[in-house]
Amino acid sequence: MEIMEEKRPIVHGVDVDARTRCVHYYSEKDVIAIKFHCCGQYYACYFCHQQLAGHPSKKWPKAQWNERAILCGNCWNEMAIATYLDTVRCPNCDHLFNEGCSNHYHLYFEWKGEN
Ligand SMILES: [Zn+2]
Ligand SMILES: [Zn+2]
Ligand SMILES: [Zn+2]
Repeated sequence: MEIMEEKRPIVHGVDVDARTRCVHYYSEKDVIAIKFHCCGQYYACYFCHQQLAGHPSKKWPKAQWNERAILCGNCWNEMAIATYLDTVRCPNCDHLFNEGCSNHYHLYFEWKGEN
C-alpha cells in the first residue's frame, strides 16, 4: 500500500529526514512523528515542537485518543493514538517502534487524573 508522496502530511522539525527522524531522535526505530494537539501540525518529536512551534505544547486528552495523530515515518501510515499506545510496531508495515518513547508519553498524551 504505497502512499503518494504529495499526499504525505508535512512533518516539521530540525533536520527531519524522509522517515521523520530528527536531530534529537535518529535511531532505526525513531520513525514516529506526532501531530500536536495545540496546532494540529506534525512534528518529529517534542523537542522539535519546542524549538520551532513558538508556543507551548498541549497534550491529547484521553477522550480524543481515537484521533489519527501518529505517523509511521517508514510507511507514512497515520494511526490513532490509542492504536499506537497499544503496539510496539507499525500495524501497517510492521516496522518496530522505539519502546523508549513510552518514557515520553506524558509529554504528548494526557493520562487519567492529569491535567
Ligand atoms: Zn503546537
Ligand atoms: Zn526532534
Ligand atoms: Zn509503518
